[in-house]
Amino acid sequence: MDKPPHAVPAPDSSPYDGAGLPLPSTPLLDDGVFSPGRIKLEREQAYFNDLYLLAPVAYFVLGLDGVIVQLNLVAAELFGLARGRPGHVLFRSYVHEAFRHDYDQFVQRVLNSSEPERIQLQVRPHPGTQEAGLPVSLLGSADPNGQALRLVLEQAEGKLAALERSEERFRRIVHSAEEGIWEIDAQALTSFVNPKMAHMLGCQIEDMLGQPLAAFMDDEGRAILERNIARRQDGIAERHEFKFVRRDGSALWATLATNPIFDAGGSYLGALALVGDITAQREASGRIWQQANFDQVTGLPNRHMFLDRLHNETRRAKREGTCLALLFIDLDNFKQVNDSLGHEKGDTLLRQAARRISERVRATDTVARLGGDEFTVILAGVGQLAGIERVVQDLVTALAMPFALDDDSAQVSASVGVALYPADAEAAEILLRHADQAMYAAKNAGRNGYRYFTPALQQAAELRRNTVREMRLALAQEQFEVHYQPIVSLHDGAIARAEALLRWRHPLRGLLAPAEFIAFAEANGLITDIGDWVFRQAVRQAQQWQVAYGSGFQISINKSPVEFRGDAALYQGWPDHLRREGLPPGAIVIETTEGVLLDEARQVGERLRQFRAMGLALALDDFGSGQTSLACLQKFDIDFLKIDRSLVGALGQGDAGLALCEAIIALAQRLGLKVVAEGVETAQQRDLLRAAGCDYAQGFLFAGALPAPQMERLLSAQPAA
Ligand code: C2E
Ligand code: CA
Ligand code: CA
Repeated sequence: MDKPPHAVPAPDSSPYDGAGLPLPSTPLLDDGVFSPGRIKLEREQAYFNDLYLLAPVAYFVLGLDGVIVQLNLVAAELFGLARGRPGHVLFRSYVHEAFRHDYDQFVQRVLNSSEPERIQLQVRPHPGTQEAGLPVSLLGSADPNGQALRLVLEQAEGKLAALERSEERFRRIVHSAEEGIWEIDAQALTSFVNPKMAHMLGCQIEDMLGQPLAAFMDDEGRAILERNIARRQDGIAERHEFKFVRRDGSALWATLATNPIFDAGGSYLGALALVGDITAQREASGRIWQQANFDQVTGLPNRHMFLDRLHNETRRAKREGTCLALLFIDLDNFKQVNDSLGHEKGDTLLRQAARRISERVRATDTVARLGGDEFTVILAGVGQLAGIERVVQDLVTALAMPFALDDDSAQVSASVGVALYPADAEAAEILLRHADQAMYAAKNAGRNGYRYFTPALQQAAELRRNTVREMRLALAQEQFEVHYQPIVSLHDGAIARAEALLRWRHPLRGLLAPAEFIAFAEANGLITDIGDWVFRQAVRQAQQWQVAYGSGFQISINKSPVEFRGDAALYQGWPDHLRREGLPPGAIVIETTEGVLLDEARQVGERLRQFRAMGLALALDDFGSGQTSLACLQKFDIDFLKIDRSLVGALGQGDAGLALCEAIIALAQRLGLKVVAEGVETAQQRDLLRAAGCDYAQGFLFAGALPAPQMERLLSAQPAA
């Protein structure tokens, strides 16, 4: 569309005259990065409006129908309108008849353009009279959301009387404003501040002029600023909560409403910001938030926050298909302590209890205090019951220890209820209720213990508890036995080694395989004692068999991943023991599973190196059942690779199984590892493996796990090497 012939460029303007100042959008500013609620938005809108309200130009906001919906003081004075209720008045009715056609076209241009448009025309402040038209310049722009039209009206030459008065007023306001006013130039250097702004920062105005904005911020603030400068130059008006640094180093939290300033040609001149001090509110709202979500005594999340987290955690578990455990902990006899020693000591006890609980779960688990002596714990992403049980047991033990309360000491215990998501309930509230019920069951069962919500889990837990108790006895009463399974060389069929496999001769349940007890021993830590015992058995046995059947004879022992996490001291006695028994360390092979190599924990790697340093050999068990990266094999200097029986079982059932075994064998040998095939049950499997170049085999085809005397018989039946 053509420019109207009488359009003139905007006068070279000071940043404060309306021509250069972009207009605030209406009725509310676009919501910026922060949206702390409508009230705040409106308050900030008010800051902006104040500036426009007092600006030395006439400022109007029109609806799309051309009706005046907002106007500033100068505009109201100019047209004799009431600012609060301008009435149903069309701006067009003030336009001189001779200019109405131009005005209509101007409005169309404004609405169709994203850029401000300017027009020169005449207005009649008193419509319907024959008074002479007043030549003015109109700057129009469309509201970004297309719902309104904003107009700035200035006298084309000279000043309106109303404008002159208001300019004076504007100056006064800027100097006495409650808000800070801060203007920067295109290089982000301060070009103007009002006294309030300087005061807020504890500076003198002169100290601030010419200083970069960034000089009044910390690194965090500077980073945000950097990000925003680009957007500001795009002409986006923004509001932020910003942290400035006062001259004395303290923080000034402020709302910052910035508007970019452009010259008539559209180049960026800088920005004008209205700065409101919200340090006090922010501190107060921080306190309020703290009070609304955290328990004042222990500092733990309160019921409100806890329920929030529980909802989130159940949602996440659902999304990720994981499980979680909810523990409901109630202290036994807390009331007595509180009544007899007083509330202050009661609070101290609660704080200590909170600490004991928090120290026994991962940082990512939620510990909360629901009130009184009730605590909850959300254990997220739990895989095995054994893991949960370890935590719960640990908590019960920890809470039963005496509490030191200044010069007093008190003892309480804890009853814990356990409910599992999703097994026991999917909804957060029901899960909580179930955990609560389970806690009551624990109380009824005599306190100082825990209960599962589900009866079957409860029974399983009892079996586990019994098993663990019996296992301690078993170790003392020598109910454990080590059986041996021969490992056969595929080259000549000779028994080259044996694997030590643990058995428990249970007085009532008969001979138990590891599957029935190892996991419990892992959960309660007894596995380390058992592992140590197995090692000593194997050393003695290996020593005897080396003497009888040759110095190449080796025995491998199994180590669970849990045993790798323990500390180095546990194995310090091993080298001495080997020396005393006169056995070269290489006679013992440590078998462990892939999981160990993938474990990120530092001790695991250290433990492997420790075993290596003792001179023990290493075997990677169950290869092919998980996902070991082959890089690990090299990194940890493994001697043997044991192909998992699931792969061996697939041999002879199509080509894929064979191809996989062949590939593993070839690869392992390239890395200098010997390969043992596990679970070899048929002659066909043996032949295929031998053809593929596999070194050793182990399985029922040769023999299962045998008591030492039977193993001995097999060995002695072999032709001497
Ligand atoms: P593993 O290390 O993979 O041991 C091989 C298991 O496969 C043994 O089961 C063995 O009896 C069984 N097996 C051997 N040949 C065949 C076969 O041809 N077919 C089939 N189907 N199975 C065969 P076992 O003795 O029940 O041991 C189970 C697991 O318990 C072992 O798996 C090992 O991970 C663990 N384990 C055994 N003893 C100990 C120990 O002293 N300490 C630790 N931490 N774990 C042990
Ligand atoms: Ca093994
Ligand atoms: Ca195995």
